[in-house]
Amino acid sequence: MLSDLPLDSTSAGTSRTTGSSELWDDALRVIARKLSAQNFDLWFRPIRCQEIDGQTISLLAPNQFIKEWFETHYQQVVLEVIGEGSSRPYTIRWTIDDSHTDEEPAKEPAITKPTPSPAKVASEPARPSDSRRQASAAQRGSKSTPEHQDLGQELLARYIFDSFVIGPSNQLAAAASRAVADNPGGKYNPLFIYGGVGLGKTHLLHAIGHQIQADHPTWRILYLKTETFMNEYINMVRSGKIDEFRVKYRDNTDVLLMDDIQYLGGKERTQDEFFHTFNALFESHRQIVVTADKYPHEIPDLEERIRSRFQWGLIADIQAPELETRVAILQKKAELDQIALPPEVALFLATNIKSNVRELEGLLIRVAAFASLQQRPITIDFAQDTLRNFLTQTAAQLTVEAVQREVASYFGVKVTDLKSSSRQSSVTKPRQVAMYLARKLCKSSFPELGLKFGGKDHTTVLSACRKVEALLDSDPQLRGMVSEIERHLLA
Ligand code: ADP
Ligand code: MG
Repeated sequence: MLSDLPLDSTSAGTSRTTGSSELWDDALRVIARKLSAQNFDLWFRPIRCQEIDGQTISLLAPNQFIKEWFETHYQQVVLEVIGEGSSRPYTIRWTIDDSHTDEEPAKEPAITKPTPSPAKVASEPARPSDSRRQASAAQRGSKSTPEHQDLGQELLARYIFDSFVIGPSNQLAAAASRAVADNPGGKYNPLFIYGGVGLGKTHLLHAIGHQIQADHPTWRILYLKTETFMNEYINMVRSGKIDEFRVKYRDNTDVLLMDDIQYLGGKERTQDEFFHTFNALFESHRQIVVTADKYPHEIPDLEERIRSRFQWGLIADIQAPELETRVAILQKKAELDQIALPPEVALFLATNIKSNVRELEGLLIRVAAFASLQQRPITIDFAQDTLRNFLTQTAAQLTVEAVQREVASYFGVKVTDLKSSSRQSSVTKPRQVAMYLARKLCKSSFPELGLKFGGKDHTTVLSACRKVEALLDSDPQLRGMVSEIERHLLA
C-alpha cells in the first residue's frame, strides 16, 4: 500500500526538494503504515515539508487547527522517526498557508473571484458585523424565538454541548464544533463532520446551532436534513418558486447546518443548487456545517467541485467510542434522566454495545423503564435479563445480507464468493459459516437461505449448518472466529 502513496508536491510530500527532503518522505511512509488511510489523509496530506535545513524541518500547514492537532498528536512520533539514527534532535518550524486559491479547480463556473481562504478569514475581525447579515437581521427584528428555525427543523433541546461526552473518539469533532460555535464563519468554514450511524453527528450539529443561537439571537440558524433541502428544492422548482427558495437559503440564512449530506450523492440538480447555496453563504462568511456518514471522497456520485469545497475548512471524524467514553455517556444520560445507574451496570451495558451510542442509550432507557415498571433496582442481573431480550430482538432484525457482508469482510472474501459455487477452501469455509450464522441469527428457512446464497438447494445449506455445528464443538479456533463475527453483528 505504501508504494501507492503519491508523495508528490501536491500531497504531503516536500514542495521544495533539498538533499534531505527524502527524510520527510521516508518518515511519511513509516507513519502511513501506522495510521488508517483516512487519518493519514486527514492529518498528513494537507501538510507540506518545505525544506529540511540542518536539524530544522520547515512545515507548511493549511490552517492552525491542522497544525495544532498535528503538534499534539503526531509531532513527537514524526520527530522520533526522522531522528532515528541521528545524534542531534530535529525541530519543526511551522508556517500557516494563506494561499488556498491554488487548490481550487479552475473549472468552477460560479466563482469568478478568488474565494477567501480559511486562514484569511480567520485573520479578519469577528464578522457579526457583516453588512449582509446585519441587513437581514434588521429586517427580521431582534426576536429570539423558535420562529428563527421556522425555515428548517427544530433544534432539539437536549442536544447541547453540555450533554455531549468527549472522549478520544470524538475529541476532534467536538473541539471543531466548539470552535465553530465560538467563531461562526471563522477559520473552520465549512466544517464537515463524518462518522458512523449513531455516533453523535446530529447531536453536535444541534449543539452548534444552540450555542450560536444563544450568542447571536437575531441570526437565522437553519438546521435541516439534506433530504428536506432536496424535497423543498424539487417542490419549489415545480411550483415556480425557485426565487423564493434562493432568497431563503442564500440571503436569509446566517448559519446553515445540514445533516446527512451523503444523500446529495447522485442528485445532480440538488447538488447544483447546493453548490450555489454554498458559494453564496461562504462568500459572505456565513458558517456552513455538514455531516455525513462518510468522508467526502467516499460519498458516491458527489461532484468534485462540492468535495473540494468541503476540503476548504475542516474535516473532522467521529469514531466509535471507547469503553470509558461509553460508560461516561451512560452515566451522563442517567444523570440527565435521573436514572439510578450503579457503575458496575454502566460498565456491563457499555461492554455489550460497542459501536452505536443510540443503541447504547436505547438499552439504558429500556432497562430503566423495565426497572421502574417492575419497581426493581437496576442490578447487573436485571440488566442481563433485559439485555438478553434486546439482543434477541436485534438478531431478529438482522438480514441475511448483513450476515453475508460481515462474514465476507471478516474472512477477506467477496459476498459474491459466498454466493458462488466455488469449491476452493478459502471460500467454502466462509460460506459455511455465513450459512450457519444466517440460519442462527436471521431465522430464515433453509430454502430461503439457499436462494439468498446464489440459488442453492436447501440441503446444501442444511449440511453446511450441521458441519459448522459439529466443528464448533471440536475446533476452538473456529469457535472463536464465529463468536467474534456474531459479536460484531450484534453490537
Ligand atoms: P448520528 O447523527 O451520528 O447518527 P446522533 O447525533 O443522532 O448520531 O446520536 C445518537 C444518540 O447518541 C443521540 O441521542 C446522542 O445524544 C447520543 N450521543 C452520541 N454521542 C454522544 C456523546 N459523545 N455524548 C452524549 N451523547 C451522545
Ligand atoms: Mg444523524
